[in-house]
Amino acid sequence: MAGRSQRVAPVKAVVFPGSFDPLTNGHVDIIERASEIFGQVIVAVLFNPSKEALFTQAEREALISKQFARYRGRVSVVSFSGLLVDFVQSTKSRVVIRGLRAISDFDYEAQMALINRKLAPQIETFFLTAREEHSYISSTVVKQVALLGGDVRGMVPRVVSDALAKKREERRRQGRRPL
Ligand code: ADP
Repeated sequence: MAGRSQRVAPVKAVVFPGSFDPLTNGHVDIIERASEIFGQVIVAVLFNPSKEALFTQAEREALISKQFARYRGRVSVVSFSGLLVDFVQSTKSRVVIRGLRAISDFDYEAQMALINRKLAPQIETFFLTAREEHSYISSTVVKQVALLGGDVRGMVPRVVSDALAKKREERRRQGRRPL
């Protein structure tokens, strides 16, 4: 009997989807580790008009592209909207990567993975465990700290901390509250 491995082409690229509002060191670590294991990572930035973001779609994409500029061909960045499985099927990949920070991430992530399997059984979801030192980092916390004037340099790449400082200054000049 032919094994699955004989019927299915090996994966060359994986899709890492998320909001990335903005990219954090936790995301960077997952992207680096996934690229070492799988070779190529497509970072898929979700366009969700119903969720208010601090950074525009173009800004989120540009920050990731800048951070991974030296990964030539191994990390690409694209935007997508709609169903993740439709996006994955439009690529040559059939693997989704997600990061797991804590047990609390697991319920939601397991549900999404199972729904995606129901929609597209050939797509697999792989989880990479967050590094201990990143497990408390989320885009939400980073935004809150940065807009209130806290130092986020250990939590995000330099390009992102610079961009957050600019956002804070922009909001201050516009007379807006930090959050
Ligand atoms: P989403 O809205 O899809 O959760 P995020 O940008 O918040 O988008 O997260 C994208 C992915 O990165 C998710 O799989 C999330 O679990 C993972 N992730 C977020 N923060 C970290 C972190 N600090 N360490 C490892 N993985 C993380």
